[in-house]
Amino acid sequence: MFILGLKNSPMIWFSWSVSEAGYEARDGTLLARSPPKVRAVVCLKDDFAEKICLDFIALDGSSESITNFANQYGLLRNHSLQSEPLVLWVEEIKAMRDVLLASNEGRFAEALEKYTIGYARQRGAKAGFAPNVTNSEFEFRCVALDLASWFWLQIGQNLRSRQVGRCRECGSLFFKGGGKGTRRTQSRKTKQFCTPGCKVLYNNRISVGKKKHLDQTHHAIV
Ligand SMILES: [Zn+2]
Repeated sequence: MFILGLKNSPMIWFSWSVSEAGYEARDGTLLARSPPKVRAVVCLKDDFAEKICLDFIALDGSSESITNFANQYGLLRNHSLQSEPLVLWVEEIKAMRDVLLASNEGRFAEALEKYTIGYARQRGAKAGFAPNVTNSEFEFRCVALDLASWFWLQIGQNLRSRQVGRCRECGSLFFKGGGKGTRRTQSRKTKQFCTPGCKVLYNNRISVGKKKHLDQTHHAIV
């Protein structure tokens, strides 16, 4: 019998390419101020990759938030290009958020359908065996062809094994469970807040309400 476990998850690689002079938004277009340079070709650790995905989904769609994000991670599509429409960002953010929302609300078939449509729109990935530099063994790599494809691959990997939660304080979407050791206990399946900070805010609000009035406490919980 052949069993696919987490250890056999595809190793999602990407060649991170960013303009050193940064990006600017002009007339609905995101422009690189200098030709993008390859920063690193890496397979990011799961929790790090997850954070970048969730940060992307949380962008408010303003040209400022998109420009700031691009300054760190580069353009969404083919990174040899030096510009792309901002509307592409707005559409991909919405499409990915819709997938996680559907999953969070228990509409799993719809989440998978939306995911399939979203990934079909991407350039995708190239897969094959490559030598591992540290132990000179062969390893299987799935190399995303652009940043948008990388996002969709990472989200697919997370959706496969994890539930999507929604923060009770700020409404942000996050993945429940996953991680190892201490991280696992911080990120258990019953998790209700995106960060410890939101949990503190929520609980503080509740206790302030309790001190004030019973009725107000009720409102704080609702
Ligand atoms: Zn939150």
